[in-house]
Amino acid sequence: MAADCIFCKIIGKEIPSEFIYEDDDMIAIRDINPKAPVHLLIIPRKHIRSINDIEAVDEALLGRMMTVAKGLAVKEGTDKSGYRVFFNVEKGGGQEVFHLHLHLVGGFDRG
Ligand code: 5GP
Ligand code: ZN
Repeated sequence: MAADCIFCKIIGKEIPSEFIYEDDDMIAIRDINPKAPVHLLIIPRKHIRSINDIEAVDEALLGRMMTVAKGLAVKEGTDKSGYRVFFNVEKGGGQEVFHLHLHLVGGFDRG
């Protein structure tokens, strides 16, 4: 828990937000400003600032975030049509919320 971190507040339920997935290690929510029909954020409960701050101890967590992303893509019906998963890293990489989160962006119809 980091002071003044919006995602820590969402995880701690200080700010109400619908969790579309949760387990002991992470939550997933819909992006408040979606860039596509499906835009989810997969957020570890542990406050890690960015990919620059990950350590060996976080490797299992990061791997599980990918597995959860895959499952959510299926649940949202965007697995077959396709989607993107990515981290923005620091300001130059487009990061605005400095609590690690994986974007899942899909639902495009490019058939
Ligand atoms: P970043 O640019 O840091 O990679 O992504 C942050 C994302 O979080 C943005 O796409 C933004 O729309 C989203 N976001 C910021 N504040 C909130 C919030 O309070 N609730 C939700 N659901 N999404 C948020
Ligand atoms: Zn945080």
